[in-house]
This record gives sequence, structure tokens and C-alpha cells, in this order.
Amino acid sequence: MERVYGAIQSRVGQVKAALAQAALRRDRDPSGVALMAVVKTRSPEEIREVLAAGVTLLGENRVQEGAAHLEALGPGPRRSFRLHFIGRLQTNKARKAMDMFDSIDGVDSLHLAQLLSRLAQDAGLARDLLLEVNLGEESQKGGVAPSAAEALAEAVHGLPGLSLTGLMGVCPYAQDAEASRPYYRDLHHLFDRLRRGHPQPGTFRWLSMGMSHDFHVAVEEGATLVRVGEALFGPRRPA
Ligand SMILES: *Cc1c(COP(=O)(O)O)cnc(C)c1O
Repeated sequence: MERVYGAIQSRVGQVKAALAQAALRRDRDPSGVALMAVVKTRSPEEIREVLAAGVTLLGENRVQEGAAHLEALGPGPRRSFRLHFIGRLQTNKARKAMDMFDSIDGVDSLHLAQLLSRLAQDAGLARDLLLEVNLGEESQKGGVAPSAAEALAEAVHGLPGLSLTGLMGVCPYAQDAEASRPYYRDLHHLFDRLRRGHPQPGTFRWLSMGMSHDFHVAVEEGATLVRVGEALFGPRRPA
């Protein structure tokens, strides 16, 4: 594929404008919605371009690829961006993930949370995490069922070294973005309920929902973080 220089920068502008319009339709402040660039399968050049366009939050769903990005982009820990893990974390890669990622956004079991807590304590670190909620209860996808999320959140609050800062929702794919709306509305209600039960409600602020095809709907339904890949970078190459 031929690379058009500046294409990513202009797509960042378009996505930010669409995001702001969706926020304003609901009388929300556009600055209250963070744009995460999902960089899976992208090259260091593409990632540099998205960073140059002012994006400061990156999401990656593989530990190995995440490590390669960081190496290519230069040394931490004072990087100019935050990197979140948004995939399914295998327990044998948890230690490496804790070293590299600022937040683990796909936590869906107490077993995994307990492991992350032990690793954080061993390393003398504190780490943020988001619980992943499987909105359509699709068995092939990760994430905790909505009905089990509250109990898991309560268990996670008791684990040292971890701070539960929000929810990541994934809903069944449908071409029509409107199909996502009821799922996102339900996740917003769940988010509000969990915040009321949170020991430090002010730190529970990420409602991560919405992707390239439906982020405008997610923002209308209260998302504070949208995860966008193809709308920024173009079609994904096969992994
Ligand atoms: C790939 C991915 C995205 C981005 O999807 P696009 O359709 O490219 O915007 C968002 N969230 C997760 C968890 C992903 O794996």
C-alpha cells in the first residue's frame, strides 16, 4: 500500500471533529473524551505520525508488539504518551505487560487481577486497570458478564498495588452503529453504579467504549475514552 504522508494527521483532525460534535450534541465538553489510537499491526512510522498529530494515548492488544513499539519509539519512562493494553492477557506474559503498559484495560477475572496485584507489589509499583465487560455476552470474546462486574470490582478494590480506574466495553459487531447504542447505554449505567461503590470515586473515570464505526454513538452515550484504529490509520493489514 502506498503511504500518503499527512493522511494520518488529517484523519486525526476528522476523528477529533466528529468526536467533538457528538459530545456537543449531548452538551458534553469535548475535552472530557480521550482519543486512544489503537496501534495494533501499525508500523513505527505510522505511530510516530499519529503522535505528531497530537494523540497522547495508544492502545495495543499484544504484549510482544507493544514491546517492539516502545523500543522503536525511544526510552521511557518519561514518554510523551500513555500505552494501554487492550487485549486478552495471558498469565505468562503478565509480568512483561506490567513493565510496559501504563494500564491493563482487559481484566476480566479475579485470578488475573490477583496475579497483577502480586506482580505490582513485587516490583513496588502501582498499576491502573480497567475491567472488561462483555456486553453481548458472546462466549468467544473476553470480558466479564455485566451481571458479574460489580462483584469483580469489589474484589479488585481489596487488592494492593492496583487501582481500578474504569470499564472497557466491547459489544457485538454490527455495521449499523445504532445497534451499539443500547449496549453502551447499559454500560454507562453500570459505570455509574460502580462509581458509587468505589472507595475513591474520583479516580474511576474511564468509560472506554466505541471504535471506528461507532465512536460517535458511544460518545453520545457517555464514553470518556474511545478506541479508534482504522478511522485513523486506514484498513488494517492482516496480522
Ligand atoms: C482493534 C481494536 C479496536 C479498534 O478497532 P477499529 O475498528 O480499528 O477502530 C478497539 N478496541 C479493541 C479492543 C481492539 O482490539
